[in-house]
Amino acid sequence: MVETSHPRVRFAPSPTGYLHLGSARTGLYNFIFARQHEGTFVLRIEDTDLSRSTDQAIVQILASMKEMGLQWDEGPGVPGPHGPYRQTERDSIYHEHVARLLETGHLYPCFCTAEELEAERTAAQADGRDSVYSGKCRALAAEEVQRRQTAGEPYTLRVRVPEGRTVFHDILRGDVAFENDTIGDFIVQRSDGTVTYNLAVVVDDVTMEITHVIRGDDHISNTPKQVVIYEALGAGVPEFLHMPLLFGTDRKKLSKRHGATKLEQLTAEGFLVDVVRNYLCFLSAEFDESMITWTLDDLVRSFDVTKLGTSPSIFDPEKLRWMNGRYVRAMTDEWLGGRLVEYLTRVGFYGDPVGVGELAAQGSQVLAAVVEDAESERLPPTVPDEEHEALTREIAPLVHEKVEVLADFIPMAGWFFRPLEFTPEALERLQATAGAAATLATAAAGLRDLPEWDVPAIETLVRELPPTLELKPKAVFAALRLGMSGQTVTPGLFESLWVLGRDQAVARLEQAAARLV
Ligand code: GLU
Repeated sequence: MVETSHPRVRFAPSPTGYLHLGSARTGLYNFIFARQHEGTFVLRIEDTDLSRSTDQAIVQILASMKEMGLQWDEGPGVPGPHGPYRQTERDSIYHEHVARLLETGHLYPCFCTAEELEAERTAAQADGRDSVYSGKCRALAAEEVQRRQTAGEPYTLRVRVPEGRTVFHDILRGDVAFENDTIGDFIVQRSDGTVTYNLAVVVDDVTMEITHVIRGDDHISNTPKQVVIYEALGAGVPEFLHMPLLFGTDRKKLSKRHGATKLEQLTAEGFLVDVVRNYLCFLSAEFDESMITWTLDDLVRSFDVTKLGTSPSIFDPEKLRWMNGRYVRAMTDEWLGGRLVEYLTRVGFYGDPVGVGELAAQGSQVLAAVVEDAESERLPPTVPDEEHEALTREIAPLVHEKVEVLADFIPMAGWFFRPLEFTPEALERLQATAGAAATLATAAAGLRDLPEWDVPAIETLVRELPPTLELKPKAVFAALRLGMSGQTVTPGLFESLWVLGRDQAVARLEQAAARLV
């Protein structure tokens, strides 16, 4: 592991939407690194893009961070000595630094108009040169600057980038060098007086005493500009760790096209936050199955952020689903019961088992999309009543081996919560099942009179039916499964009948028999 003591790291999301999985991973790695080295984890909100930043997005980002267990040591809601932690509240700090850079001659005013700059770009392109600013305003005489400023001509402030090369150290890549003539004198303050991202981020990192910048490798091209600013400010340059971005299985940058790309979406499908968190770590590293159930503390103890590879990390929802199933299987029935109650409450299942069942039948992603819409309108989820909650907990052991994401519960076991109703396919199957009417009637009568209501007694009774009725066991099981649930796939037959309870089980089989006459 990298030798370092008490580092200060920061996670700096731009609140332009929910926390994207790639950003969640950046937050996670910063957190792990800070905890591993007894450092400080700063959360900074980069909300300078006023047209795209929203307060709602900030609330959601903070909630997702907390859900993943990534508590920050300084940041929104956690005052610290380096605040404020929201860029829109730090304007005066940026301008103090701009003034200092102007005084020390590292910046100069540039009066070039948009048209002039466009013409420069076009000319560069025509000559096949890289398009960097020509430096036209670099050497304007002080009097001319004064005169044009007094006349009210708009100007930007640019950095006087020195000659030579700029080198920074990246923990994953070693030294990374850029020729300064490919950087060009870049803008740090726009003509409306606002500062640019590169200036704000460096001033923040300097004043917040950040020692390690861990962020996505889409920022590598910004880094030389930022290093030039650090040097102009006479500040120490931090260590960088640019993490590989997340790609979809088609090797394109992860985006909405790939399905769920945000934590809320995944949890609305019934992925577990712990699994998503572990997957985000392991998708760039070797792992064995025992690591699927790691806690955040385990990650802090053993996951080495500095050993990542630099090739893109492929996010595979199928793999995540598999991991989720493994995780569920490693937990107890009681645990699963509790998670299911929370999940079914969140998706509004108890208030509308039929409607939510129809959505879930179209796939967990369809259900998740509807749930998310409802949540963004802040519709309250329905609360489970004691009966529904108890029923869910009783069913949990029956589905434990089959559930991958929690939404899988609904097509498997949603029928327990609604009156008997057949899918057309199931009714057809029942009608085509040999001896179905006799099976249902005999089983209903037998169950009604069963002395003990327990699984072994139910099993004995059902297993006696095929010889008694001279039917194949397969036909008897199919008729009962279809008859109790109205569908073709259910948890184990005996256990399901038992969970239904004697009255429900008998009533359902009788209702099903009535559909056959
Ligand atoms: N706000 C930037 C982003 O969300 C991060 C900037 C940085 O980490 O330096 O991409």
